[in-house]
Amino acid sequence: MPVQGATATLAIPTPDEGSKVDLRSDTVTHPTPAMYERMMRAPIGDDGLDGDPTARELEAETAQVLGKDAGLFVPSCTMANLIAILAQSQRGEQVVLEANAHIYNSERGSGTFTGLFYLPVPGTAGAMDLDVLEDVLNPTGHRLKTALVGLETSHNNAGGAVLPLEHMEKVHQMAHRRGVRVHIDGARLFNAAVYLGVTPAEVARSSDTVSLCLSKGLSAPVGAVLAGPKATIEKGRTLRRMLGGAQRQVGIMAAAGLEGVRTMGPRLAEDHRRARRLSDGVNALGTPLSASVPQTNIVQVDVSRTGRDSGAWVDLLDDAGLLARPWGRQRLRCVTHRQIDDAAIERAIVAFKTVIAQIPAPV
Ligand SMILES: *Cc1c(COP(=O)(O)O)cnc(C)c1O
Repeated sequence: MPVQGATATLAIPTPDEGSKVDLRSDTVTHPTPAMYERMMRAPIGDDGLDGDPTARELEAETAQVLGKDAGLFVPSCTMANLIAILAQSQRGEQVVLEANAHIYNSERGSGTFTGLFYLPVPGTAGAMDLDVLEDVLNPTGHRLKTALVGLETSHNNAGGAVLPLEHMEKVHQMAHRRGVRVHIDGARLFNAAVYLGVTPAEVARSSDTVSLCLSKGLSAPVGAVLAGPKATIEKGRTLRRMLGGAQRQVGIMAAAGLEGVRTMGPRLAEDHRRARRLSDGVNALGTPLSASVPQTNIVQVDVSRTGRDSGAWVDLLDDAGLLARPWGRQRLRCVTHRQIDDAAIERAIVAFKTVIAQIPAPV
């Protein structure tokens, strides 16, 4: 699709029609034409020198949307979470996380250089067991001091489950009573807001800091925003430089993120509806497959009773025109996003049906 720019006509690359249905992740979403338009018109600043106007605009606006004082544009949500942790803790302290949280499972390698200990608390559908959390926050004997409690919503490993607002409020109260801060890994926080029918700020209310990924359902090419109190974010700005995350002419990327934050939230409801259709369609096949019933845009499909593991399933589905990811040995993860329309969901269901027909029934 051509876009008329100030000085150029740009041919925007569009995802291949007729190619495989890609449910590997919502990170595969391409920028929208409006994003390209805004990127092309973004003034060129230097965020490592004297500041970039679009990055500043994105930071201020995202902070406001999340109900926080200030924001910080960072290259990834992983870095946003890391900066949140570093800005609110001291070496030798601990960070408490639900045991299946992304920060615990996929990001805790950072503990090898942050000098922090990551303590997992068992949970259900992404929500920590509050009795265990209470014990952790009330240390007896020789325990590490807790600096930060982390929450995640929607919860990636829990199949996109959304934390109830009351749960978040309880965690926040328990932590604050002891001077412990709360961070929300809100990579998909807009999905949680859409599911709950509340504003993103309402979801982020029970926290000090919150991260938001711009490159998942919001469709920007890269980036995330960390939002929180002014002093914490200023500390975060220094930490970002130390980590090599201060970028130069970053307004071009911030422009796409700004478009995402402004316009892409409400349409996530479509992804949720299609995820539900996928789940219903797979469960209706009457096979040994079992799909989770999604609250948001992630469906987990249990293949443990099919006589094939998730790796074999990924290969077979690939041949049938569907890309999915293994989630452990027994499950597949399918994620809906802007480039998956109703027809793609029907093709995905047919792919599952095709593979089931190919493999012998388990004895
Ligand atoms: C994807 C994801 C991240 C990391 O985001 P990146 O931008 O890829 O670094 C963090 N937390 C959760 C819950 C995620 O789903």
